[in-house]
Amino acid sequence: MATAVRPTVLKNFINGEWVDSASGLSFEDRNPANTRELVGLFPLSTAEDVDAAVRAAAEAFEPWRLTPAPKRAEILYRAAETLVKRKDDLARDMTREMGKVLAEARGDVQEAIDMTYYMAGEGRRLFGQTTPSELPNKYAMSARQPLGVCALITPWNFPMAIPSWKIMPALVCGNTVVIKPAEDTPLSTYTLVQILAEAGLPAGVVNVVNGMGSEAGAPLVEHPDVAAVSFTGSSEVGRLVSVSCAPKLRPCHLEMGGKNILIVLEDANLDLAIEGAVWGGFGTTGQRCTAASRVAVHKKVYKEFAHRFVERVKALRVGDGLDPATDMGPCINEDQLKKVMEYVAIGKAEGAKLITGGNRLTEGNYAHGWFHEPTVFADCTPRMRIAQEEIFGPVVAVMPIDGFEQSVEIANDVPYGLSASIYTQDVNRAFAAMRDLHTGIVYVNAPTIGAEIHLPFGGTKNTGNGHREAGNAALDFYSEWKTLYIDYSNRLQRAQIDG
Ligand code: NAD
Repeated sequence: MATAVRPTVLKNFINGEWVDSASGLSFEDRNPANTRELVGLFPLSTAEDVDAAVRAAAEAFEPWRLTPAPKRAEILYRAAETLVKRKDDLARDMTREMGKVLAEARGDVQEAIDMTYYMAGEGRRLFGQTTPSELPNKYAMSARQPLGVCALITPWNFPMAIPSWKIMPALVCGNTVVIKPAEDTPLSTYTLVQILAEAGLPAGVVNVVNGMGSEAGAPLVEHPDVAAVSFTGSSEVGRLVSVSCAPKLRPCHLEMGGKNILIVLEDANLDLAIEGAVWGGFGTTGQRCTAASRVAVHKKVYKEFAHRFVERVKALRVGDGLDPATDMGPCINEDQLKKVMEYVAIGKAEGAKLITGGNRLTEGNYAHGWFHEPTVFADCTPRMRIAQEEIFGPVVAVMPIDGFEQSVEIANDVPYGLSASIYTQDVNRAFAAMRDLHTGIVYVNAPTIGAEIHLPFGGTKNTGNGHREAGNAALDFYSEWKTLYIDYSNRLQRAQIDG
């Protein structure tokens, strides 16, 4: 395929060196808005590269573990400062490899900045507990200990934010890291790690191995010297990661798919709800794990909502994310576009009413990208496949509901449990929803997307396996508690027996 710009040939990062893959082969990172543009060539790695990276991380672990946490944090702080300075360039690179509009790419980089500063702050906290002992002249406390080498596997939809959610807490806790970024968006991780290295990170503390899931991701998850795995991606692959970790009793943190609902009750501020549904459903081309891909609207306001929502969706300008006039970029790749088109066909076949969109865009500026119209199905029923399965594209299923109780039932009747949102002016129903929606995140009078980095992030059911990303909660995955008893009585004291 002809290329519009000279491709950059990029490398793996192992033991502080930028190196080719052992195979010498590479893969292409192309712009989804214009596949004639080759963003970069990246090493196609295999188990051999993974092994070198894990060995480097294992060797770097001891000195890094013994580096005082505030010193570790200073490196993160310096990296955050550089991210701030380079934010615009990093965002442009991200839009070129991922397709999301520039404002959202800036938001993605900002999330990495926020996370890096937040975890830099943790270097002077990492608080444990101190507590009186039940015995005299005895002291008790707990402290966080790092785990060792952490294997990190990330998806393409948040190319810098998600790697930062994993790398920063892992590092501040004293772990070393091997990351395998998504094959569609390797450049953002490459730059993030380059910035960390320039900020003074010792060799081997962070290593990057690029490549495909089965050839590079799987050997990383299985490597005997890995202490813990953190994975974000599809539930299908997450299950494989979990199965691979189970016999080794290896801690594994899974963040997976979603089928998030936005509920609009009859007393909702409709202007606000419509704006939220457009942003929640079509922000990042619907390619967010938290996307509002189901909208349940009270019958009393259903007609008006559907009409006005569709008018807003029709007005969305689809195009290259680098163009400031663009509201919605392309799908990430051909497979994802085909998946969207398949679900459009499924929606039609199961009797949902297509009220706007439904087609791939191929003419003019769209000719070389993976573009699809923003698409809305109305009159959906809760058990339709388009209302149950994660599409991960610009398709929203709208359904009428009779009332609050039914909305909660429908919300909870899917295999996922990441995010849910409710629009109402009734404080009683808002609180009941916060209690009863079985998801990791609930929004009131705001769409399903928009997590902030200092709060726990994750979901229930097929979305997660009980751990949380971000905020203080992330520290609980990347460290283990060690409980410490200090007896200064100079005699044997038996807990539960003496005294
Ligand atoms: P994916 O599961 O296809 O890939 C994710 C990562 O896993 C990639 O780096 C891939 O190379 C790697 N991988 C693939 N097969 C592997 C294997 N056998 N062993 C180890 N690694 C392997 O997901 P994707 O298409 O990149 O991302 C989209 C999915 O991610 C959606 O389901 C979305 O909901 C989910 N997601 C979830 C969250 C969350 O926090 N819950 C956030 C973003 C995305």
